[in-house]
Amino acid sequence: MQSSASPINAQAPRKPPGLDPAILASFPTLRFKASAAAPECAGCLSDFAAGDALRLLTVCRHAFHTPCIDSWLRAHTTCPVCRSDLDAAPAPAPRHEDPAAVAVDVECDRRGGAG
Ligand SMILES: [Zn+2]
Ligand SMILES: [Zn+2]
Repeated sequence: MQSSASPINAQAPRKPPGLDPAILASFPTLRFKASAAAPECAGCLSDFAAGDALRLLTVCRHAFHTPCIDSWLRAHTTCPVCRSDLDAAPAPAPRHEDPAAVAVDVECDRRGGAG
């Protein structure tokens, strides 16, 4: 005797784990400029290069390579750096950034030599 009933298949449909594409699309893309400080992309752990296409998470002001963050947000709804919830509505009022917290040291190490 065979039974065609599968009680395991009775799960209620849940929201997909990734970020809503509409929210993702709301984050602006920009070109990285070499003149700015060059942090690394948390998605691929590579330094940004001039002309790279970045996506800026306006919720927390973190930027990543567009393909890196797009791929990440297919399975997550938080910023990979600060874990800000990107699924929530944007903050009603912009918060003041502490200028002391954005100190980035850029060392220009000039070493003569062939190579
Ligand atoms: Zn990247
Ligand atoms: Zn962040």
